[in-house]
Amino acid sequence: MLQVDLRELARGPVDTQGQLAGSDPLFEGVTVALVEPVCVAGRLQAAGEGRFYWRASLRTRMAGECRRCLAAVTVPVVADVDALFSQDPDALEDPNSYPLARDATAIDLRVPVREELLLALPQWVVCRDDCRGLCPRCGTDLNAGPCGCPPATDQRWSGLTALKHKLRD
Ligand SMILES: [Zn+2]
Ligand SMILES: [Zn+2]
Repeated sequence: MLQVDLRELARGPVDTQGQLAGSDPLFEGVTVALVEPVCVAGRLQAAGEGRFYWRASLRTRMAGECRRCLAAVTVPVVADVDALFSQDPDALEDPNSYPLARDATAIDLRVPVREELLLALPQWVVCRDDCRGLCPRCGTDLNAGPCGCPPATDQRWSGLTALKHKLRD
């Protein structure tokens, strides 16, 4: 379903719908857990001699750990795909273009799916924007309330405090 026969494309644009399981070998090496299938929806069409343009969107969810409080969270991952498949090697300077063999009989859409998904994965996630995280001293989850540790001293004043102690002694 994510491989489109060129003979079909010769008759006109082709709707491309599909789902790839998060465990699909295509996503081997993806370092996060995809907890929902990757849904792909788009349209592939000829764009001149030996050129085909694919516009699509991807949608899935990934599981991660809140960067601040380490709670398990799942977040949506969405990406738009604008890919050009071309039999002309000169067209391949464009980062969104993919090579197509001269004798190809089908277009495999899975390569751009993998690439765009990798680009769309967030570097880190938070459980919510105002997550207070864990106390750096005792490890209490500060979302549940204050932990009783004294407030961290402001580093800007530490030199002054040391001076004050010195004068006092
Ligand atoms: Zn959190
Ligand atoms: Zn604490």
